[in-house]
Amino acid sequence: MEPNSTIDNVLRVALVTGSTSGIGAAIARALSRAGYAVVLHSRSSADTGRAMAAEMKQAVYVQADLALEADRVRLINEAIAEWGQLDVLVNNAGISKVIAHDDLTSATSAVWRELNEVNVVAPFHLIALAEPALREAARYRRAGSVVNISSHAGVRPKGASIPYAVSKAALNHMTRLLAVSLGPDIRVNAVAPGLVDTPLTAEWTDAQALWRTRAPMRRSASPDDIAKAVAMLIDSDYLTGEILLSDGGLNLT
Ligand code: NAD
Repeated sequence: MEPNSTIDNVLRVALVTGSTSGIGAAIARALSRAGYAVVLHSRSSADTGRAMAAEMKQAVYVQADLALEADRVRLINEAIAEWGQLDVLVNNAGISKVIAHDDLTSATSAVWRELNEVNVVAPFHLIALAEPALREAARYRRAGSVVNISSHAGVRPKGASIPYAVSKAALNHMTRLLAVSLGPDIRVNAVAPGLVDTPLTAEWTDAQALWRTRAPMRRSASPDDIAKAVAMLIDSDYLTGEILLSDGGLNLT
């Protein structure tokens, strides 16, 4: 299921952060297929971003380091400037660190700050910067929509490291808090994936075996599986404050 942006022949614009690889690239492609004009973004990989934009019907690429406030401001300004509007913001960009949960000394203050800045502060700041444009979407077209990509690690006591899991738990709570503050003009939801096959997880053989043997769906997710969940939330006019756990049912076992 892909969100229908063209049902009324009205242009809708979506910004997907971290969209030159993995889950973000699948989300950007799904939204483009559904008729959205797409703003692609990444921290580096500018050549890939421009090549992807050239393949899509209506798309541009913007490079920005989301750890830097000035880059966040420029990203939102450039995203809105291209078509004069913004309807959808997908906060997909994120970083992880693998640290055993019982290795407390390796989870340094620097690691906590780095993950918090990119996984929590940056999404909040981008939403704040995009708020006026997303409210305008509600006025002239349809409620603005924010989807944050968190993780099952933010819901259960699991994940690559404690600082990573806590950053995603914070993102989930932020999602609910902002759903209350920004409705009805802007809906705010999250998708919390379990294991997804991306370059990031290519070597995570233990996790892959766990999903194959224990998860009711008997496999990890593809990036397209997660893109479908994102598209469903964008298209569901009545859903807000939801954290959609997309882990093939592993949490039930
Ligand atoms: P990925 O490494 O392919 O994508 C991450 C993206 O984030 C990249 O495009 C990168 O440019 C961007 N990014 C990272 N730091 C940035 C910064 N400082 N400034 C700008 N952009 C930055 O990984 P992925 O697996 O596709 O992950 C996408 C999202 O999904 C992340 O938020 C991740 O935490 C989440 N997630 C992934 C999995 C998984 O199994 N792969 C599971 C749960 C959640």
